[in-house]
Amino acid sequence: ERKQLNRLRREPSRTLDGTDIKLWANAESREDVAEAHALGAAGVGLYRTEFLFMGSREIPDEDTQFRAYRDAVLGMTGRTVTIRTLDLGADKADKTGLALRDEPNPALGLRGVRLSLARDGLLHTQLRAIARASGYGPVRVLVPMISGAEEMRTVRAMLRTALAEVRREGHEVAAQLPLGAMIEVPSAALSLSGFIGACDFLSIGTNDLVQYLLAADRNNEALGELYTPLHPALLRLLRDVVRIAQRRGRPVAVCGEIAGDAAFVPLLLALGLTELSLHPATLLEVRRAIRSCDLSGLRNEARALLRARDRAGIERWLSANTQAMP
Ligand code: PEP
Ligand code: MG
Repeated sequence: ERKQLNRLRREPSRTLDGTDIKLWANAESREDVAEAHALGAAGVGLYRTEFLFMGSREIPDEDTQFRAYRDAVLGMTGRTVTIRTLDLGADKADKTGLALRDEPNPALGLRGVRLSLARDGLLHTQLRAIARASGYGPVRVLVPMISGAEEMRTVRAMLRTALAEVRREGHEVAAQLPLGAMIEVPSAALSLSGFIGACDFLSIGTNDLVQYLLAADRNNEALGELYTPLHPALLRLLRDVVRIAQRRGRPVAVCGEIAGDAAFVPLLLALGLTELSLHPATLLEVRRAIRSCDLSGLRNEARALLRARDRAGIERWLSANTQAMP
């Protein structure tokens, strides 16, 4: 079984009817980057920079950040690395003192880009470090917890400033540094057409999107099956985001846990997704699932999927549309 999976390291993530699905890796460490490279990931689709901050009592300075980002870029040898700006707060514990301590409702509080924008110099320093790393290979910048147009425009202006500064100082930087939004807050998904012009690409964070859409804490075990991606509201939202992105020619990936579960591959492909970002641990299983899918057949079943009324209906669709694995 393991051996058979390992054979897929050098195989394309291609459906039976010949469409290549882009499989990016989520990475939190040097080891993840090495693993992603070895498994033939298309690039890193989500580099979680908060892990640099969570492991330390001090806020990593520009040089420390730069070296970590540069090493990830070098580790991928020319494949794109998508660096997400700091996503501290809520369930992501912080020893540096950046996040607020006792928020009454941390998941709805000062987290992600909100925190980055609230702390003097924090985002500026991080964008400078990322800009410097872009001199070593292709880099994209991804912003977490975007809730609407204003934040995206603010970050875009700050990225422009950081790039110009770093260039002026004589560092080599990429000519292009694409900027993308995480779609993980329902308001961002629902107002996307108003700010997609400020986005070069999108990445859908289903972990948080499910949490906020269903008002179900992603870490509260007491909620049991109330926290689930198998909800008709989520499927509709995914379909709408994908449609808008495709109409406007913006690449869109899913980078939440749902993308790392081979069982959900037919559902994501049916909804029009062609890019997934997932932890390297399940990359080969997901690749195998993709290789057993008939994409045009699944797309024809999208309407039936979107007609499902509840979890049981979605599960029935999934079992009817899952190919037996060879
Ligand atoms: C998500 O919310 O789906 C996501 C990928 O980000 P994180 O799990 O780091 O919040
Ligand atoms: Mg998230």
